[in-house]
Amino acid sequence: MDKAREISESNPEAVLRRESLVSRRELLERLSPLGKVELDASRCTGCGLCVSECSTGALRISTGLETDAYQILFRHAVCIACGACVEICPEHCIQVKRVFEPEKIDDSIVLLEDKVLRCVKCGGTLGPGLMVAKIRARVSVASKVQPPSSTLCPGCRALGLFNRAD
Ligand code: SF4
Ligand code: SF4
Repeated sequence: MDKAREISESNPEAVLRRESLVSRRELLERLSPLGKVELDASRCTGCGLCVSECSTGALRISTGLETDAYQILFRHAVCIACGACVEICPEHCIQVKRVFEPEKIDDSIVLLEDKVLRCVKCGGTLGPGLMVAKIRARVSVASKVQPPSSTLCPGCRALGLFNRAD
């Protein structure tokens, strides 16, 4: 046992103070009205379902107008740990725990970073790059054919087919 710990262990008041601190923290966590979301970014597609399900605005999507940056942001201060985001997630990659972290109250945490993919013809939004890639991979596995690799939106692709039929 190191010297500092030895002194503190021999001081019943210090032991009591430490134990009451631990239990107070545990109590705060159990009774915390707030939640903390953790997201496994390696499995998230950025589909945004969790964001649309979050009634408090604790989760939100931020997109950069000029950079095409796509982010999912989280705010501890308004998360009520309802679990709606966990239930709706098709990839099962989001978790929430009841916890109170006063030092994070003012923070907006970036849970996912991606880029918006755009139609090469009209510039319309195709969606987050991760989601588009995942849909293509799934279509390929399900239909055993290579999905169209072009970055055209459905409208421009249909117009292309229509013009070719002329
Ligand atoms: S956490 Fe789940 S629901 Fe939310 S964006 Fe990622 S995949 Fe979609
Ligand atoms: S637990 Fe509820 S309030 Fe918190 S981020 Fe998820 S949906 Fe929003």
